[in-house]
Amino acid sequence: MVDVHTKEQRSFNMSRIRGGDTKPEMIVRSLVHSMGFRYRLHRKDLPGKPDIVLPRHKKIIFVHGCFWHSHNCKYGKVFPKTNSDFWENKRSETVLRDARNIKALRAGGWEVLVVWGCEVCCLEELRGVVEGFLG
Ligand SMILES: [Zn+2]
Repeated sequence: MVDVHTKEQRSFNMSRIRGGDTKPEMIVRSLVHSMGFRYRLHRKDLPGKPDIVLPRHKKIIFVHGCFWHSHNCKYGKVFPKTNSDFWENKRSETVLRDARNIKALRAGGWEVLVVWGCEVCCLEELRGVVEGFLG
């Protein structure tokens, strides 16, 4: 496959998949908020600094970017052509760390939901999933 992306497009794509206040996270936040739930953000005292924490319900929502967290979808199966070893190492480390964090959280009595970046496009479905989780 030929890499048709220009350098500018590539850096744009990369900047979109970096962490932080990414768009999918904002969408999930406002969804949770619209359901009337109160939450805390990125609690540093919990494994993995979970994106959305509902202390009263002992529930946690992670919003994972498909690329970084190697989701089993078309976005998670992108293999960068440059520095591919670097990206692959980073991504497999991330997957291992995610699994460790979620295990530790569950052991501490937290219920954990992972929302994937690609799921945020289907808002009605997502609402159902989040509603089901928060009960
Ligand atoms: Zn995905």
